[in-house]
Amino acid sequence: MSLFEHPAFDNHEHIAFRFDEKTGLKAIIAVHNTNLGPTLGGCRMWPYASSAEALNDVLRLSRGMTYKSALANLPQGGGKSVIIGDPRTDITPALMHAMGDFVQSLGGKYVTAEDSGISPQSLKLMAQRCDYVAGTQAKYSYHGGEADGNPSPATAYGTFVGIQASVKQRLGRSVDGLTVAIQGLGHVGYRLAELLHAAGANLIVTDIFPDNLEKAEKLLGATLVKPEAIYAVKADVFAPCAFGAVINDDTIEQFNFSVIAAANNQLAHESHGEILRQRDILYAPDYVINAGGVIDIYHQNIDSSNAALRTHIEQIGETLTEIFMRSQQQGDATNIVANLMAEERFSAK
Ligand code: NAD
Repeated sequence: MSLFEHPAFDNHEHIAFRFDEKTGLKAIIAVHNTNLGPTLGGCRMWPYASSAEALNDVLRLSRGMTYKSALANLPQGGGKSVIIGDPRTDITPALMHAMGDFVQSLGGKYVTAEDSGISPQSLKLMAQRCDYVAGTQAKYSYHGGEADGNPSPATAYGTFVGIQASVKQRLGRSVDGLTVAIQGLGHVGYRLAELLHAAGANLIVTDIFPDNLEKAEKLLGATLVKPEAIYAVKADVFAPCAFGAVINDDTIEQFNFSVIAAANNQLAHESHGEILRQRDILYAPDYVINAGGVIDIYHQNIDSSNAALRTHIEQIGETLTEIFMRSQQQGDATNIVANLMAEERFSAK
C-alpha cells in the first residue's frame, strides 16, 4: 500500500496508525493541515473491507475538514480518524479507552468528535482517557433553547441561512412564497423544512420512511412525492438532505431549479459544478453551507454564548455571497471558487 504516493495523500502533515493487541483496536488518525490551528474532525467506525479502504476514507475526510473549517472562519485545521470494525458488535469500553489513548498520544494536534458509528456514549468513554474530545457537553444553542449536544439543528439553521443568501443572489428576493424541494426529512431535513415553512416557503418533500413525511404534510402543509420523483419537480430551490452524489449525469438533466443548496457531498464529480453553472443553476458548495454543525461543536468547546454561536453560523451567508461574487467575476464554478478561497486561507499562514 503506497502512502506518500497515495492519490488522497495531498500533503497530509501527520498520519498515525495504531494497533492495540489487548483490545484489537485498529485505527488511523489523519492530520491534514494545522496552519490555522489544531485539527478537528469526527471519528468514524466502519467495517472497512481492507486497511487500504480505511486509509483512503480517512485521508479524503480529513482533507475535507481543512477546507470546511477554513471557510467556516474557524481557527482550526482538518483531521479525522477511523476505527476498523463493526460499531454494532465491536464497541466495548476497553476499545473506546484504547482509542482515547491513541487520540491523546497526538498531544492535541487532533481533536476528535462524533461521526458514523460513534455515539455520544462512545465519545464519553474516549474522554475518560483523553483531553481532546469535542461535543460531549453541550452548553449553547443558536436559538437560545436547551442544548442537547446534537449539532443537526445548527447544521439545519446554517443551511437555512445559506438558502436565503443563495436565493437573494440568484432571484433577488426572500424565500417567502418560493417553492423548496427537500430530499430526506431526517435530523437536518426536517428542521430545515420547519425553518423554511416559518419563513413562508412552500415545500415539496420526499423520504423513504413515512414518519416525518406525514408530519410534514400535516404540520407544514408540504406536498409529498415519491423518492425517485424529487429530481424532476418544479421548484425554485432543491435541498438534498439525504445522501451524497445526487447531482450526477442521470439527475442533472431532470433539474428544473434555480438554486441547489444543502447537506453533503452533493456533486458526484467536481465537473458537475461547471455543468450547473452553464445551466444557470446556482450551486451553494456543500461543505460551506453545511458547516453549522462543526461551528456548533467548536463553540461547545470554548467560552462562548448562544448569541455568538448564532452570529458565527450566520456568517455562512456572507461567505456564500463572497463565493457567488467571485464566481461571477472569474467565470468559474462556485465549487472551484470555494476550494480556491479555502486554500488561500489555510495556505497563507
Ligand atoms: P439522517 O440520517 O437523520 O437523515 C437522512 C434522511 O434521508 C432520513 O430520513 C432517510 O430516511 C432519508 N433518505 C435516505 N435515503 C433516501 C432516498 N433515497 N430518498 C429520500 N430520502 C432518503 O441524516 P442527517 O443528520 O439529517 O444528515 C443528512 C445529510 O447531511 C447527510 O448526508 C449528512 O452526512 C449531512 N450532514 C449532516 C450534518 C449533521 O449535523 N447532521 C452535518 C453535515 C452534513
